[in-house]
Amino acid sequence: MLQQFDFVRVSGYKGVAFTFLGHGRCWLDNGDGVPEWEPNENLARVCMVGDDNVLEVNIDDLTTLDQNEFCMDCGQIGCSHGRYPEAEE
Ligand SMILES: [Zn+2]
Repeated sequence: MLQQFDFVRVSGYKGVAFTFLGHGRCWLDNGDGVPEWEPNENLARVCMVGDDNVLEVNIDDLTTLDQNEFCMDCGQIGCSHGRYPEAEE
């Protein structure tokens, strides 16, 4: 189960790390004919590391990412510039 601010990769966005912000929301009708703006566990809101662009994607497209697998500066997976100090050899 993802926690808010976990780092993830998103299928279709190869090589870039994202931060998981929470579940998306959608209008759900609970049966009383009045749709409500409810969290939808099938959707995830993610933000690209190093950017402030928020995307809403399918939760199945996310894979958790270790924080030393990517660069904290540019968000690229495999870039070694901005790793956490403890990740350096
Ligand atoms: Zn970098």
